[in-house]
Amino acid sequence: MNDTKLELRDVGVKYVTLQGETDALSDLSLAVRDGEFVAVVGPSGCGKSTLLSLVAGLVRPTSGTVLVAGQPVTGPSRRVGYMLQEDYLFKWRDVAANVVLGLEVQGRLSAASRARALGLLDKYGLSDFKHHLPRQLSGGMRQRVALIRTLAVDPEVLLLDEPFSALDYQTRLTLQDEIWGILRRESKTTILVTHDISEAIAMADRVIVLTKRPGRVKTEYAIETGNGAAAAPLRRRRESAQFARYFDLIWKELEAHVGESGRG
Ligand code: ADP
Repeated sequence: MNDTKLELRDVGVKYVTLQGETDALSDLSLAVRDGEFVAVVGPSGCGKSTLLSLVAGLVRPTSGTVLVAGQPVTGPSRRVGYMLQEDYLFKWRDVAANVVLGLEVQGRLSAASRARALGLLDKYGLSDFKHHLPRQLSGGMRQRVALIRTLAVDPEVLLLDEPFSALDYQTRLTLQDEIWGILRRESKTTILVTHDISEAIAMADRVIVLTKRPGRVKTEYAIETGNGAAAAPLRRRRESAQFARYFDLIWKELEAHVGESGRG
């Protein structure tokens, strides 16, 4: 497949600590197409965060290969952007100064790159808040600013690690819609790790279920919600009959894991 943006080939990760060895992932293979949105779910401790750390170049595989745009990942690089549960905005910098931070760190801040970053604030309805400090914004807005900061450096692949889990339910749904809309418009190749099955099904083109540790791909579901709903608002996707069917299937798979291991 030549539009593959990201590929993990037979990847294994073993952590070695004073307490012993842990096989976090084993023989995991996964290919993600350019512009595709993939969600990864699985029992806790099955290696989901490890998978993201591999792609970010923060963890090296013990075996196998990780490729971004056909090139091996050998360490952190600007090709991959990472968004976490915490927004990690600098509290003494205003929104505009936070949004250009990644560019500054990478030594790529210029009049053009600054204009592009501030243009993203504008495009996504945050320009009125340019001179606000993070504490003057709601949790959901801070996460949007954090996303725009990540997009400002124009990564080829975007990693989202439970980015909504610290938010209350209502904010989480709204932010899922907004972030999904932004990522669609920017056509970013995205991997979302989440324990929230609804979030995975609502947002992703494909949901990957991992086995319990050591994690590898157990099942994958191409999400078809009908009515051309790939482009429809998230609300329509959530309300589709197919949504409930996927939820049921994935729920049962994860429940089976809980039965096997005695806990989640
Ligand atoms: P998940 O995100 O699915 O909960 P993780 O990738 O965080 O899973 O962890 C997978 C396994 O690897 C767990 O058993 C965890 O304790 C272990 N692990 C994760 N990071 C490290 C590390 N830096 N050193 C040692 N063990 C680790």
